[in-house]
Amino acid sequence: MPTLDHPSGPVPAAPGPVPPQRWRPSLLIVLSLALHACAGVAWLIDPLSARPLLLLLLINHAVLTICGLVPRSRWLGPNLTRLPAAAVARREVALTIDDGPDPEVTPAVLDLLERHGARATFFCIGVLAERHPELCREIVRRGHSIENHSQHHRHNFSLLGPRGLRRELRQAQETLFAITGQRPGFFRAPAGLRNPLLDPVLPGLGLQLASWTRRGFDTRSNDPERLLQRLTGAGLRAGDILLLHDGNAARTPSGAPAILAVLPALLERLHSAGLRTVTLREAHL
Ligand SMILES: [Zn+2]
Repeated sequence: MPTLDHPSGPVPAAPGPVPPQRWRPSLLIVLSLALHACAGVAWLIDPLSARPLLLLLLINHAVLTICGLVPRSRWLGPNLTRLPAAAVARREVALTIDDGPDPEVTPAVLDLLERHGARATFFCIGVLAERHPELCREIVRRGHSIENHSQHHRHNFSLLGPRGLRRELRQAQETLFAITGQRPGFFRAPAGLRNPLLDPVLPGLGLQLASWTRRGFDTRSNDPERLLQRLTGAGLRAGDILLLHDGNAARTPSGAPAILAVLPALLERLHSAGLRTVTLREAHL
């Protein structure tokens, strides 16, 4: 099993808490709310005349559901799918690594990243962080950042109501802050699936939704060549956000976690393209 070959030390000083912000609904949400209000008024005045509006409401809900199930969609609210223009100008890319920390895989990922002078953003699951707090502190000590991937990574996350969503996000915020001393500023939904009720919850917790530009599907695919092709194929460019997994990683035929099989070649490809890996926080400075 790989080991942490760095001595323990204090984690970097915590940044100040992100002030809660006000929720600004997207255009689709504004139009949906207006449609609901119109349907309500029409129903009160004349239930028969409201029938076409009720049909529109059904279509509206279907559209909202579909938008929530498209991970890179921005129709329900802001969603980071690429780094900002300043980061593109600096030729930066972001490696994001989900579903950890994992006591077997994460230390080896950290060693590989260090060998290549690369930085990454780890979207950690709260309950796993509670199980491996020292590993979380090691991630931060080595210059990477930890962000919020919910407390339990529930498979029914996209079906939760406002209270359930807020509880998942707030518990993970508290867990990760208590362990690392740093408050996450980004949230990634489990499997990227969400519903329209998530967006109003995010600003109050100082979180911004982050998805990705391209992903390797490395929880299902165990072919390093295919993973590399998906992550760096035609169109790899500055500003891309790449997604891999240190938790739930598929295994190659030899038993190696997929991320460890693809990471060296990926980091070399990024380096030869003149791209610098940074954390999401660094990209947004
Ligand atoms: Zn996940």
